[in-house]
Amino acid sequence: MRTGQTHLFIPGPTNVPESVRQAMNVPMQDMRAPDFGDLTLGLFKDLKSVLRTKTGKVMLFPGSGTGAWEAAITNTLNPGDKVLMSRFGQFSSLWVEMAQRLGLDVEVVDVPWGAGVPVKEYARRLGADAKDEIKAVFVTHNETATGVTSDVAAVRRAMDDCFHDALLFVDGVSSVASIDFRMDDWGVDLAVTGSQKGLMLPAGLGILGVSEKALEAARGAKMRRAYFEFDDMLKLNADGYFPYTPPTQLFHGLRKSLDRIQHEGLDNVIARHHRLGEAVRRGIAAWGMDLVAEHYTLYSDTVSAVRVPQGVDARDVLRIAYEEYNASFGSGLARLAGKVFRIGHLGDLNEGMCLTSLSLAEMALARAGARIELGSGVGAAQDWLLLQHMDAPDLCVA
Ligand code: PLP
Repeated sequence: MRTGQTHLFIPGPTNVPESVRQAMNVPMQDMRAPDFGDLTLGLFKDLKSVLRTKTGKVMLFPGSGTGAWEAAITNTLNPGDKVLMSRFGQFSSLWVEMAQRLGLDVEVVDVPWGAGVPVKEYARRLGADAKDEIKAVFVTHNETATGVTSDVAAVRRAMDDCFHDALLFVDGVSSVASIDFRMDDWGVDLAVTGSQKGLMLPAGLGILGVSEKALEAARGAKMRRAYFEFDDMLKLNADGYFPYTPPTQLFHGLRKSLDRIQHEGLDNVIARHHRLGEAVRRGIAAWGMDLVAEHYTLYSDTVSAVRVPQGVDARDVLRIAYEEYNASFGSGLARLAGKVFRIGHLGDLNEGMCLTSLSLAEMALARAGARIELGSGVGAAQDWLLLQHMDAPDLCVA
C-alpha cells in the first residue's frame, strides 16, 4: 500500500484542482434542455479570451488534441493540397504523419530534436512559392517531447513578408493557458488545444479556435469528414447545443477552470508558469545536466526535457521515482527513450510542487547511478524563487 500523495510531474494530463473536480461532480443533465446554452455559450466566450481572439470561433469536440488536429485539417483543406510542416519532436512528427495519412502533399522540413520551427527555411520556401501552391503552414508551438517553444509570431511575419496567403495552423496543446498564445495578433487560422494541460481538466475535449479565414476555407474544402464537420457543430453551437452527446461533466469542470484562470488573470498565469519553469531549469542547471532544447530562447515554460548523464538510463530514473517515491515524470519519447526524462511544470502548480519535483528527481537520479549533489537543484530553485519575491535588488540572495 502506498501512503501519502501521489505526485504527477508529467506534462499532461496535469493536476486537476480540487474545486474543478468538485464542479464536475454533478448529476447528468439534459443536453437539449432550454437552458443548456447558459452553460455552454459562456464557455465559448471565455475560451476566446484564453486564445486571445475576438474574431475567431471556438469549437469543443468530444475527443482530444489529436482529434482537434484532424478536425482542423479535414475541414479546411482539399485532398492533395501542398502544406508546409516541420518535425522537431514526437508531436510535430505525429502531426506530419497524420497529414500524410489524410492525403496531403506534405513538404516536411526536418530539424534536430531540440531546435524549434525553422523560420528561415519556412520564409525561403514561402518566398519561392510564387504561385501560392502551399495552402497551409503548420507550427507546433510547444513541442512537449523536447521542451521547446517556437516563435509563432516570426512565422506569421515570414508569411506576411512575402504576402503569402496560406492558412496558419498552430498546435497549442501544451501552451494554451500557460504560455503566451495570441491567436489574433499572430494571425493563427486554426488553433488546436486539449483539455488536459493548461486548462487543468481530464482529457476528453479537443478544442479549436477557428479564424474567419479558416471558416471561409471550410465552406469549399473537399476533404472527407463526418464526425468533425464544422458546419454541423456551428449550426447547433449558435444556441449552445451540440450535434452529438457532449461531455457535460467536463463542461462544468471547464467552467470552473476558466473562472480560476480569470480570477488569477491570464497574464499572471503566464507569469507564474515562467517563474516556476525557470525555477525548475535553474535546478537542472545546478545538477550539471543539459536540456534537450538547444538554446535558452527556446526553453519551454511548461515542460523541461532533461538529458541524463552517460551511463544512466532515464527509464531507471522514471521507474525508481514511480515505485519508490510515488512520483511520475514524463518519459523520453521515441528516439529520446532512455536518454531523457521530462519534468512537467504546467497547470495547477505552485512553488512547493516544483521543489518536490526537483527533490524527488534528485533522489531517483542518485539511485539510478547519476553523480549528483543532493539538494543542489532544490537549492538553486529556492534561490531563484526567493529572488522573485524581493523588491529591492540589494536584498538578493546570491
Ligand atoms: N500536440 C502536443 C504538443 C501534445 O503535447 C500532445 C499530447 O501530449 C498532442 C498534440 C496530442 O494530444 P492528445 O494526447 O490530447 O490527443
